[in-house]
Amino acid sequence: MLSIQGVHKRFGEHPVLRGIDLDVARHEVVALIGASGSGKSTLLKTVNLLEQIDDGRIVLAGDDISDPRVNVDAVRARIGVVFQHYNLFPHMHVLGNVTLAARQVFRTPRAQAERTGLALLERIGLADKAYEYPDRLSGGQQQRVAIARALATDPELLLLDEITSALDPQLVGEVLDLVRELKAGGSTIVMATHEMSFARRVADRVVYLKDGVIIESGTPEQIFERPQRAETREFLRRLR
Ligand code: ATP
Ligand code: MG
Repeated sequence: MLSIQGVHKRFGEHPVLRGIDLDVARHEVVALIGASGSGKSTLLKTVNLLEQIDDGRIVLAGDDISDPRVNVDAVRARIGVVFQHYNLFPHMHVLGNVTLAARQVFRTPRAQAERTGLALLERIGLADKAYEYPDRLSGGQQQRVAIARALATDPELLLLDEITSALDPQLVGEVLDLVRELKAGGSTIVMATHEMSFARRVADRVVYLKDGVIIESGTPEQIFERPQRAETREFLRRLR
């Protein structure tokens, strides 16, 4: 589904991704863990073409999306993205936020986009908030709307970057539940997270990144219970 092959990325003199190889299967949920600055967000951004890579290849469902001639908007239309700070448009109600991409990028007629949007809001339990403005919602609700917005265009791949880290602890659960539901529904997800419990509970595979290199990857049990590499053990030990 997604194949990241030998990807290198440098900011000036500073190498941030140093030969990343990562394959993500359809319906797989992969969690990227690693210290701050290890390159998790940069890796997600290269997939969404927000950052250009210096070397390597990124293939999405057979298409080389790292080819400089690629249509960036067309690629982004296939990928749903949610970041830490739920960047909902404050001047638009919830349904407006959720339907915006479908209407602007895909030119979906308003009535149809709204039907889809309302069904999504129903699914995330926020149908009654469709005509509220974002500032009237809790952080967890806003983040769920941001996820609904990313889903509205039925993306092939979802990239989630620290989607719970701006939330109060008691709101994390509802976002986590939603991601588990997406997983159950067959979504393909790559997520960066500092929350090991989140990675443990939703990921099929956990990938530990250090200084732009994948040190180790495996099932949550393998990584959290039986890490093979000293670096992984050290990273996990420091979190406790
Ligand atoms: P965090 O857990 O704090 O979110 P991260 O693993 O997501 O960290 P990145 O945001 O990918 O880390 O950053 C990796 C490195 O790249 C850091 O050293 C960062 O300072 C650097 N970096 C990221 N974006 C840029 C940029 N646009 N220009 C220069 N350096 C950058
Ligand atoms: Mg980050």
